[in-house]
Amino acid sequence: MKKIAIYPGSFDPITNGHIDLIKRACKLFDSVIIGVSQNSKKIAFLNIEDRICAAKTALKGIDNIQVLGFDTLLVDFAKTQNAQIILRGLRAVSDFEYEFQLSGMNKHLNPDIETLFMAPAEQYANISSSLVREILSLNGDISAFVPANVEALLKDKI
Ligand code: ADP
Repeated sequence: MKKIAIYPGSFDPITNGHIDLIKRACKLFDSVIIGVSQNSKKIAFLNIEDRICAAKTALKGIDNIQVLGFDTLLVDFAKTQNAQIILRGLRAVSDFEYEFQLSGMNKHLNPDIETLFMAPAEQYANISSSLVREILSLNGDISAFVPANVEALLKDKI
């Protein structure tokens, strides 16, 4: 059976931290699906089409990935994609409480799907999409945090 993992998130925008995690996950699973969520509680800066397109461009050349949008329950999306694993990143203790609660709820909703956590490489541990947006809005340099296509897109949108 093929091991398929879903890496869900807002990806508003995709950052070098997300990309590092995806590249490492690609070596562990047969296929990794980057699930770009439509139904976030957060008000998105980029629309879902732009978020998907930015992720596809940033991840070009990696064979065993797919970038897909979804607006359903995550466990239902995972099931339709035949994925057995939900991947989430844990950057710091501050991520833990929310991620722990989320994985518990998802486990309850579908006990067949496992949540796995991956820690980012040290140099990416402080990157978050929201900080990237904030730095950009204050005219700061975001080139160390996002790939060039994302930087260009964000600058175009602002
Ligand atoms: P969400 O709105 O679901 O939190 P994000 O796009 O912010 O979506 O993040 C998606 C996942 O990626 C989450 O599990 C988050 O903890 C993880 N993540 C975010 N930034 C990084 C990073 N720099 N390194 C590793 N994982 C990260």
